[in-house]
Amino acid sequence: MAEKKANQAIISVKKLDVIYFKGKPNEVRAVSDANLEIYPGEFVVFFGPSGCGKSTLLYAIGGLERNIEGDVFIKGKNLASIKNHELDLHRQKTIGMIFQAFYLINSLTILNNVILPQFSVNTKIKDREKKAVDLLEFFSVSKQANKFPNELSGGQQQRVAICRSLMNDPEIILADEPTGNLDSKSAIDVMNLLLELNQKQKKTIILVTHSPGSLDYASKIYYMKDGRITDVKINREPGVPIDKNSLPQNVLDRDLQTAGKEMVAKDQAVVVKESLEKISLLGDWKAKNLVSEAIFGFSYDEILKLESLVSQVIISPNKQTQQKLTDYLDKDIYQGGLGLDKRTAKKLMARFLSILQEARPIRDLSVATLAGQSLVDNKKVAEIKWHLLGYFDISLHKKQADKNFEQIISDRLSGRIDFKEVRVNLDASVKSGGVGLEKRLANKLAKYLELLILSSK
Ligand code: ADP
Ligand code: MG
Repeated sequence: MAEKKANQAIISVKKLDVIYFKGKPNEVRAVSDANLEIYPGEFVVFFGPSGCGKSTLLYAIGGLERNIEGDVFIKGKNLASIKNHELDLHRQKTIGMIFQAFYLINSLTILNNVILPQFSVNTKIKDREKKAVDLLEFFSVSKQANKFPNELSGGQQQRVAICRSLMNDPEIILADEPTGNLDSKSAIDVMNLLLELNQKQKKTIILVTHSPGSLDYASKIYYMKDGRITDVKINREPGVPIDKNSLPQNVLDRDLQTAGKEMVAKDQAVVVKESLEKISLLGDWKAKNLVSEAIFGFSYDEILKLESLVSQVIISPNKQTQQKLTDYLDKDIYQGGLGLDKRTAKKLMARFLSILQEARPIRDLSVATLAGQSLVDNKKVAEIKWHLLGYFDISLHKKQADKNFEQIISDRLSGRIDFKEVRVNLDASVKSGGVGLEKRLANKLAKYLELLILSSK
């Protein structure tokens, strides 16, 4: 009996289809008729060119992609039979996720980043911290516990993300191109850690990759092309390089080389500009959703709602807006709330109120501006600058960048430039009067500055 149990598939996928824009001219069959069985302790790789459906298949298995036809069984349970809320819990406990873009939160310390998945799980704070520290220790990044993500190398950041994925003790780890952003040495390092988790801690691993170098680690490889599984290969000695000559050459060489070209041709042929824009919007939304659910256990919609309630509190801080926010945090999931326990809700509330407090310098400043003092106070501008740098954990190494940053803040406060120009200037090179921030950070910072300005009116 015991043996039979060990032989039961931990994941089983039957006749799975994932079709986007079904029935429309821009229909995309991301996954077609996928069938597979994965057993406890396997190290499985989904391999194929970019766009062939690897990530979609992975997310369907993780219960994150719900637009599916066919069946996915995890430990014998059909995902379709699990209710939404239970599915969240089920997923948080059985599955850990690692992504190419580590998705660490820059304003939180490494330790707090690792603790995040327990945010909506009831555990004692001390126990959580100990667990996180132990994990950081095991992955040799415990010295970084109180640093912020930007202070770590890419390889270290991915180690931290692996720690985070292990926080709830999942049996299964899903990794989507986890070495895609790493130099080759760190990539090998991360792959060896995954192999160790698989061999020593018996975690079942599914890794998505288009890099042939990762194939050696697999105990089983599914080759994919155009949404279909085209071949399966068992590796009897995982961790030992496989004979590359025995790999289907058509998949390895031709497809990798032509993948990019095929994608472009397909896009031009079938997708009009409008629907392309829709796809990228959807793609962005999907990414946010995947990440927020995988990491926080909240859906992106829930986070959006939360953000909007917080903005209302910041814009007009009164009992009513505060009560609305507290209600949302407190209220049961089935009544449209977040269903947090009272203590967590209280802590969150306190955090929001402290953001309010932080917005004070700007409030004072614009009162002065409104009173007709057109001159922007340099000391106040510097104060805001330090606040922004601290909040986003940015250090500007060039003096000129620092000066330009102050100029941008001053220009925005006096109304010489608008929100969009702030964003562009923050992203522009230091030489051309900008701050040289990465685009997404520039966007976030510009938005936050707007929020501060809004809250001061
Ligand atoms: P891979 O991970 O192998 O690169 P994906 O699973 O991300 O491939 O994508 C498979 C196909 O599905 C691609 O053609 C992609 O453009 C499309 N696709 C993925 N997500 C969406 C979405 N949310 N909306 C529309 N099309 C999508
Ligand atoms: Mg992918």
